[in-house]
Amino acid sequence: MWIYLNDRFVDRKEAVVSVFDHGFLYGDGVYETLRAYGRRIFMLAQHLARLQRSAHLIGLELPIPEKDWPPLLNEAIQRNGLDEAYLRITVSRGEGDIGLDPALCRRPTVVILALPFKPYPVHLLQEGVQLAIVPVRRNLAAALSPQIKSLNFLNNILAKREAVKAGAFDGLMLNAEGHLTECTASNVFFVQAGRLCTPSVDCGILDGITREVVILLAREQRIPVEAGRYTPESLRQAEECFLTNTTMEIMPVREVDGKPLGSGRPGPVTLTLRNLFQSNLARFLW
Ligand code: PLP
Repeated sequence: MWIYLNDRFVDRKEAVVSVFDHGFLYGDGVYETLRAYGRRIFMLAQHLARLQRSAHLIGLELPIPEKDWPPLLNEAIQRNGLDEAYLRITVSRGEGDIGLDPALCRRPTVVILALPFKPYPVHLLQEGVQLAIVPVRRNLAAALSPQIKSLNFLNNILAKREAVKAGAFDGLMLNAEGHLTECTASNVFFVQAGRLCTPSVDCGILDGITREVVILLAREQRIPVEAGRYTPESLRQAEECFLTNTTMEIMPVREVDGKPLGSGRPGPVTLTLRNLFQSNLARFLW
């Protein structure tokens, strides 16, 4: 396996990061997860723009110029002989002495992983998953903005632990006001009276790139879309619900907190959007 580390591709055994790396010591860094279909990367420009934004928001200058990312990602896919790939870019603050000041680190650490894409089990995509609304709240945006896709993932990990404890596939977090936000690594949508609803960005969520594609496809299909502030009760009364992210695309939800949602099966809006996602996919590949 070839892994890009800092300035070159190395074998997996040589892909080692210092114990003084501030990404390891403090979670100081940012990342992106991307997906390639037949070697073509989904929403590449948007992922790179978000990486740039995350880095900017923590005052980290990406050591690789914008134009160099696409060929590097391609090389990572090709060197590993992949067609369907999971890609992860990690950029940490880099190696430095103990202490929180980013100035202690001379240059960021960059890692690009390209792994074979592992699809989700078909039965989950066909039947839907179970969600739990977890006690862990989403990070307050004014404390650690969910708009920063950061290596500091404990908020989501604690929520995931709660979900697993409740026997659910994933946990849906509320914000400090008790409004729905997102799951640990995906955005949430639900359908109520034929309208597609999703928590607005100002609820304190990551503005998912798949979320953006789904909103676009729904609008093109004249399905009314609304981004707003919603209570857990509005979700419980929904007819349909699904999650979105780069690796799962559109994942139906069949149950919330142990109670079936709508018919308990993927509903017509979910299925329509899933079909549209597949039939329009080529538009979004680079
Ligand atoms: N929300 C969170 C917290 C995430 O970590 C992710 C993806 O990793 C998403 C939403 C979905 O984002 P995207 O569709 O860009 O993959």
